[in-house]
Amino acid sequence: MGIETPLFLFGPCSAESREQVSQTAKELCVMSNEMHALQFIFRAGVWKPRTSPYSFQGAGDQALEWLAEVKQRFGIPVATEVATSEHVKAALHSGIDYLWIGARSSANPIAVEAISRQIAVSSNLPKAVFIKNPVNADAQLWLGNIERLEKTGVPVIAVHRGCSHKPTWGMAHTVRTARPDIPILLDPSHMSGDAEQVPVLLQKVEELRLDGAMVEVHAHPEEALSDKKQQITPAQLGTALQPILSQLCSADRKCPLDGQVELNWLRAEIDELDAALWETIAARMDVSRRIGEWKKAHNVAPLQPARYQQVLEARKEWAKENGIDAAFIEQVFNAIHSESLKRQK
Ligand code: PEP
Ligand code: MN
Repeated sequence: MGIETPLFLFGPCSAESREQVSQTAKELCVMSNEMHALQFIFRAGVWKPRTSPYSFQGAGDQALEWLAEVKQRFGIPVATEVATSEHVKAALHSGIDYLWIGARSSANPIAVEAISRQIAVSSNLPKAVFIKNPVNADAQLWLGNIERLEKTGVPVIAVHRGCSHKPTWGMAHTVRTARPDIPILLDPSHMSGDAEQVPVLLQKVEELRLDGAMVEVHAHPEEALSDKKQQITPAQLGTALQPILSQLCSADRKCPLDGQVELNWLRAEIDELDAALWETIAARMDVSRRIGEWKKAHNVAPLQPARYQQVLEARKEWAKENGIDAAFIEQVFNAIHSESLKRQK
């Protein structure tokens, strides 16, 4: 059973009130009309998996009604997150068209199995089920969850939301390569946790030939009860989509991993690894500065030859075991170490 792509899901992190839901849906419809009637699914979380037990936990079952009203009033399909069999029953009973499984549930195969079983026995099946990547960067678990959900017979769509506000492109690349038949959408909101990054990340949908996006959109992001910092307004979404819209909807977006696209994936991966490398070096410089302060206070010279030799030998040993040229590691280590020393002096 196939599903047409690209596919877009827009809407608030949480359904907070009847007014907030309908206002956001209305503004999204205005935006989509200005965008040559771009089709989208309205999303909103009803039961929210939150870190703190004291923050907003979602409006619960009553919010299903607000979503049903959006569907009826604006004629757009609606989606919500499910984390238990009870959620599946209640959502499908209320006529929710699409279900998604969040990153926290995706880390729990027993939960995914239970949700999958409940979907399979439902009389009114969803049009598709979306599975986000697990909170930990585990491509195999994400792939396993896709297979668990395929047992329902309902189309399965992956949503790449990254881990801890990092893209983890390598994980998505593995899934894209293993299952080119499964559409992958980008969730730039949870991937960055930052409204300013959302338009930048949306460009990756085109560069990496992803199959659409799920974006958190709120009529008044500053008042949002959850994920306030990452939500954008419908108008901001329109501005972000404008430059990529014609490519996104063009018919020649086939062959998801052809030459240039494969290179784009690899470059996304290497850019992320480089960023991690520089962050690690910056963190190391900071520790080195504190070591320098200790040495100064205790009248110890910045360069301790025995310690330097010991660390260098350990790095070279590691290089040998990992098939990396020891001379190269020595060069890199010396560059970092001499910068540290310079700072300590
Ligand atoms: C959400 O989409 O609002 C959500 C909770 O997402 P995630 O599971 O990716 O954190
Ligand atoms: Mn959210």
